[in-house]
Amino acid sequence: MNLDGECIPFRMLGPEISNSDDRGRRERLERARAELVARELNPVILELRRRLRTAVRELGSESAVELYRRFDFPLDELAEQCRAFLAETEQLYESALERLLDLRLDLRLDEVERWDTPRLLRASHWDAAFPVGRMLSGLKTTLAGLGIDLRGQKNVEIDVEPRPSKSPRAFCAPIEIPGRIALVTKPIGGPDDWRALFHEAGHAEHFAHTSAELPFEHRRLGDNAVTEGWAFLFEGLVSSPEWLESLIDRESAKEFCWEGAAQTLYVVRRYCAKLLYELELHVAPDPAEMAPRYQELLRSATLIEPSAADYLRDVDEGFYCTSYLRAWAFEARVRAHLGERFGPRWFESSEAGELLRGLWAEGQRPTADELLQELDGSRLELSVLAAELRETLA
Ligand SMILES: [Zn+2]
Repeated sequence: MNLDGECIPFRMLGPEISNSDDRGRRERLERARAELVARELNPVILELRRRLRTAVRELGSESAVELYRRFDFPLDELAEQCRAFLAETEQLYESALERLLDLRLDLRLDEVERWDTPRLLRASHWDAAFPVGRMLSGLKTTLAGLGIDLRGQKNVEIDVEPRPSKSPRAFCAPIEIPGRIALVTKPIGGPDDWRALFHEAGHAEHFAHTSAELPFEHRRLGDNAVTEGWAFLFEGLVSSPEWLESLIDRESAKEFCWEGAAQTLYVVRRYCAKLLYELELHVAPDPAEMAPRYQELLRSATLIEPSAADYLRDVDEGFYCTSYLRAWAFEARVRAHLGERFGPRWFESSEAGELLRGLWAEGQRPTADELLQELDGSRLELSVLAAELRETLA
């Protein structure tokens, strides 16, 4: 895409907006991005939506919602939890967002626009405390605390090299489970890179420790809330005051954790709204007319109006959003359990590492609900996360 005489690859538009301090430039970039999505991508995704609808009907269901209910996806129960989470955290979110906007962008809530969101979440003032160069050794030290020698793990490959065509979104590619796991990130600088690396490391360690004895479906398929839950548990370390002690002083750690919790609250509320939207999108007589509803639900949850152009693109197939939502409930409970059992510095306990390795070995045979049952008899509840966030944001 050409902007201000500069050619920017489509995939780099997000990072460009995040890294731009100039509000006018952010607006131009975002408007150009939305226009490209509407013109180039949406016709293709709309066609895909229609074909998927036809395929679902051939499988004997009226909609994907009905089909996934038949697969025992707890869509209705989870939607209920999402509504409760949104209501329960509404006030908390509004004041957290106001403070974060003031702190990071010097903007009021009634001024914020969608091109400010990526910049708001970018947290560039923390960059110096999270140097790219120390990221890998930080991960190695953390894993060593849990009794895992990353360097000795022949089945884990880490790729952090910046290549022009590389996707800016970090990912873990389990090529063979557990034989060959690749962890890929493209650092743009700052704590987000650390969070992304730790998130993907959670996936990588889960897959790398999955028992080779399990049948294929229990190693690769199953409940993705499990692998996302392990990923969030590791990502969450980067927002834990005890873990941060080796990087920044206690006062800064407290502030950093507050900001991290505010961001998590934004993301979880966004996903709650995404699920509620998807439940409507999949049963809508004409998906092409759903853009206003997308904007309405997302605006009400995040207090920032999203682009109408993203009403199709902001949907992960197969209700993947439910995996994230259940994973957040899972990690919050697992983290609480680890803290109660091994203390707040559980990540330095080889016993905690042993417990995790035992659970990882089970791959994705048990669901996230079953793993929690096994761990301490608890249930997946988004309200556990709400309580944790309330405490940090107080
Ligand atoms: Zn993930």
